[in-house]
Amino acid sequence: MVQGECKLCGAVGELKLSHFIPKFVGKWVKDSSATGFIRLNQNINKRAQDIAKDYWLCGECEQLFSGWEREFANRLFYPFVKDETDKAKYGDWLAKFCASLSWRTLSYIRSMNPRSDKLIEDSELAILNGLASFILGRTKNLGIYEQHFFPLDAIDSTNADVPENINRYFLRNMHMDVLSGGGQVMVYTKLPKFIILGLAGHSESKQMRASRVSLNGGSIFPQSYYWPKGFGEYLFGKAKEVSELYRKISPEQKALIDKTVEKNPDRVAASKTFAAFQHDLDMFGSSAFAPKDADE
Ligand SMILES: [Zn+2]
Repeated sequence: MVQGECKLCGAVGELKLSHFIPKFVGKWVKDSSATGFIRLNQNINKRAQDIAKDYWLCGECEQLFSGWEREFANRLFYPFVKDETDKAKYGDWLAKFCASLSWRTLSYIRSMNPRSDKLIEDSELAILNGLASFILGRTKNLGIYEQHFFPLDAIDSTNADVPENINRYFLRNMHMDVLSGGGQVMVYTKLPKFIILGLAGHSESKQMRASRVSLNGGSIFPQSYYWPKGFGEYLFGKAKEVSELYRKISPEQKALIDKTVEKNPDRVAASKTFAAFQHDLDMFGSSAFAPKDADE
């Protein structure tokens, strides 16, 4: 049993093992992959047992998170990743879920990279406090800490110069990051088929109405979304990084993947990894073959 102070509410007691990106998301990526294994970007030459987790939350806060996670899983995540629908209504749980994800992502990135810049430190602490108040129900609204939700679809044609693994990145990758620049902070959480962006008084927030999560509920449907300046380039850059990472996979690990694929070709053909790859192939032809995906 791990004792300590809950990073969210401050209560002292037994801490639970919490996932930063919800556990069911990692499990789905694994289950729907070509080989049944995942690899994490930090350690590409090893099959991973699980995605990032740590003893951070008390039982009560963990319970709070898991209620919103269940709503998101059943009403949005599974129906969308299984291609059953591209429309859904949501309740007040989505703002809470997104705030909890942004809080987790920002906390996680800060724990990996301690900040030395005082301005960044202060603004990030303010964001964490703002999100925590909303998550714990101490404030009724998010104020300047807007949450934005972007469903991602497969793309089969484009005029832009996009990387050849873009569909695999959109449909399969998980990623946490914090983008700061020009005095603005964006908290980036990438799930398969979804992006959650946490903003804090962002200068382009007015143009981003379509993606803003309403506190009392609303609906998700195919529409055009506004990406803040530089965000598209950021996404394409991240996709490229993943494909470069997979080029560096060792020959031994490559052979291991090939062996697993040969053993179970039916699983591979039916997998979501293969389906995402197919979209890239449709768009780019055989040049899409080079990069491997983030899941096997
Ligand atoms: Zn707590």
